[in-house]
Amino acid sequence: MPELLRCGNPGDCIRFHLPPPFQVLRSHTCGELRKSDVGSPVTLCGWVENKRDHGGAVFIDLRDRYGLTQVVVGPPEASDAMIDSAGHVPAESVVLIRGVVADRLEGKVNSKLDTGEIEVRSEHFEILSVSQTPPFTPGQSDLPGEDLRLKYRYLDLRRKEMQQALIRRSEIIKCMRDYFAEHDFIDVETPILGRSTPEGARDYLVPSRVHPGNFYALPQSPQLYKQILMVAGFDRYVQVAKCFRDEDLRADRQPEFTQLDLEMSFVDADDIIGLIDGLVARTAKQVLGKDITLPLPRMTYEEAMRRFGSDAPDLRFGLEIVDVTPVAAKTEFRVFRGTADAGNFVRGIRVPGAATQYSRRQIDELTSYVQQDFGAKGLAWFRVEDDKTLWSPIAKNFEPEHLEEIRVLLDGEPGDLLMFLADTWEVTCKGLSGLRKRLAVEMKLFQPGELNCSWVTEFPMFEKDEESGRHVAMHHPFTAPLAEDLPNLKDSPEKCRAQAYDLVINGSEAGGGTIRIHDSEVQSQVFELLGMDEETAQDRFGFLLDALRFGAPPHGGIALGVDRWVMLFAGLENIREVIAFPKTQKASDMMTQAPGEVDADQLNELQLRTVSVKT
Ligand code: ASP
Repeated sequence: MPELLRCGNPGDCIRFHLPPPFQVLRSHTCGELRKSDVGSPVTLCGWVENKRDHGGAVFIDLRDRYGLTQVVVGPPEASDAMIDSAGHVPAESVVLIRGVVADRLEGKVNSKLDTGEIEVRSEHFEILSVSQTPPFTPGQSDLPGEDLRLKYRYLDLRRKEMQQALIRRSEIIKCMRDYFAEHDFIDVETPILGRSTPEGARDYLVPSRVHPGNFYALPQSPQLYKQILMVAGFDRYVQVAKCFRDEDLRADRQPEFTQLDLEMSFVDADDIIGLIDGLVARTAKQVLGKDITLPLPRMTYEEAMRRFGSDAPDLRFGLEIVDVTPVAAKTEFRVFRGTADAGNFVRGIRVPGAATQYSRRQIDELTSYVQQDFGAKGLAWFRVEDDKTLWSPIAKNFEPEHLEEIRVLLDGEPGDLLMFLADTWEVTCKGLSGLRKRLAVEMKLFQPGELNCSWVTEFPMFEKDEESGRHVAMHHPFTAPLAEDLPNLKDSPEKCRAQAYDLVINGSEAGGGTIRIHDSEVQSQVFELLGMDEETAQDRFGFLLDALRFGAPPHGGIALGVDRWVMLFAGLENIREVIAFPKTQKASDMMTQAPGEVDADQLNELQLRTVSVKT
């Protein structure tokens, strides 16, 4: 195997020295030569990043994934024909040069480059492949539009940032695989063509040619297979699994994505959480050189919603939510009082030092934000004055003692802004959570490189689907209730909490899992609660129900969003930056033009006809 030499900080760059027979055309990479190599004969291959003609000698920056080396094609080493060829070689062509490593001239050393002390004086120059004029070059400082980058992804992937992101991805996945191998996990592949798995999204369907009119569903996750593997006695399963969900896309979602999926037998939630704690610490140390204190903090879903309005709270900053409904109920201010009387909530956050940072116009913008994005009716706000009284256009509607009660509840100090929503529980949660995130970014309340990891546990088993009014599983229907809530399952399912846990990194869900139901009776009961009659349950999940009747161990697992992990660990904000060939927000691949039309013959074979349906 090639010898892997690491240099600098972890993840900075990886240098390979490839001994024969791996090094067929070249003797070194473009990132490898140093002062100690001066005088050595070398052969390099790479892409022409740029070139400069200096009085008869052509200077080329030769690039490969390992770095950049300056090559000089000039007299006396190179022939006139070679110099002419180098002078005309288009950018991004692939060339081979053979020559000798030399010291750079006085004053020409480039300390920003690992190879900046040397250059290679070329004795042989050969073009291996000529490039057309590229629509953009990997070395250009201004990034072209994303559509162009995705269309010419092979050019985009030549950029250092993209290569670093994919190298980081590879390191993270390796770290995960090593960790689970050390913990006796067995890597098992599960099918891509299967039955629908209910993870709450729309399925991608694949028509079957041999069973006309029947369809496979691409897996939304390997959920059912991994549970079956536990029944089969595998005990510890892991897989880097591709999952497919046909959902509306956001900056951090893709229609196909990668999960680190695992399942274990004879465990409880603490075991899984502890195992993943170890993985988080290992990955942070190995990939970023960061120490993470374990155990990672945990809070229940109820606490997360109460204090942060979100089931994936960003704990890099405070801005905790405070409930002032009891005070609101006493005030004369119609909006507050009416809300409290209607059984709704007045909740707010204290934004330290924001009074001088936010003008009236900017506060109006925040008001429109909570109205438009979260359906809030408005935003009530107060400024804490130097004498600690509260000033606001609405302050006259309050008795001074009520204002003081509000200030004390929020710990308001001079210069703070106190912001409130008066609404339903859901709207106050969503609106205040949105406000927290926005204000934290605008006020720079966290360090750019920070990595904050925590757990949210004890999610409700079910939520109400607003349209149908029916119960739907909050995680998926195989999730076990907390033992103490099992008696509620039949009559008050909304009171049932699940043995569920989500890993949260910097306010994003980075993984989620549950302890599963391992009793076919309880499983049937949950299907029934979800409005699935016995026949449907048998048709869709009969194999699981059957398996649960053949000796199923207690089991549970989790899936980690690999793309999201890489994005968060790399400090990036767009998931497409960590995926080699991602899809756009419209789920298309700009490079291959997928999805595309298919031949009439293919449709005929599948016995399918397309019709346009007006929506
Ligand atoms: N299958 C679940 C998901 O994809 C993860 C799990 O419950 O293990 O979210």
